[in-house]
Amino acid sequence: MTKDKTASPAYPAPERLSFPDDEARFEWLPMLLDAYHIADVGVSEGVSREEKQGRVLACRKGCSACCRTHKDIPVYPLELVGMTWYATEKVDQPVRARLQEQLRDYQQGDACPFLVDGVCAVHPVRPLACRQFNVFGQACAEGEDPFHTRRQDVMTPIRKYIDDALFTMLPFYGVGHKTERRKMIKSGAVHQLARELQRCNWPSVADKMSEFDRRRTMPAQRD
Ligand code: SF4
Ligand code: SF4
Repeated sequence: MTKDKTASPAYPAPERLSFPDDEARFEWLPMLLDAYHIADVGVSEGVSREEKQGRVLACRKGCSACCRTHKDIPVYPLELVGMTWYATEKVDQPVRARLQEQLRDYQQGDACPFLVDGVCAVHPVRPLACRQFNVFGQACAEGEDPFHTRRQDVMTPIRKYIDDALFTMLPFYGVGHKTERRKMIKSGAVHQLARELQRCNWPSVADKMSEFDRRRTMPAQRD
């Protein structure tokens, strides 16, 4: 395998995530995972460029002030489907019980309900907005949004990769033709599809998790 010369030591060039059985069940899932792979490669390249300028990435596992502070995280409908699937079918105990409780009790203005003990419970399918928010230098202080306090420390995502990731997602919304997809991206119309993560109906995802668990235990109950 050739070594990726653009890869960052702090953010190595990512592999595409793979869930073969689920990808065979859900036709939207390969599309979502392809889009996230494109976005992640873009982030890796962006971080690498900054590192060449002597910048040091502050983002680390367990560093999560951003997930508590940000109150207007955009999320696209396909991403919501992915987060719902992952929470319902892939998150195991003991995180599952905590996540379900947070989703059920979620109220607008709370921290992101997917943050469990300082870690994103749906990390593999976290939204593009979360993947692309990367900070250099100091980690964010509690309550700080460095986009407003020190914009120079916030990485500007490489446009080409964001556009390609959105381009890959658009067939989910019935926009299959390449020319139409390019038009929607160029005009910015694609962003009208996004909602705010903090305004979504998260208790309904907690219900889906309960229903999934109920169905999963049904054969055992019959014996
Ligand atoms: S954005 Fe800020 S709080 Fe979030 S992981 Fe990076 S440094 Fe930590
Ligand atoms: S989805 Fe995950 S990464 Fe994004 S704000 Fe919520 S906990 Fe943080």
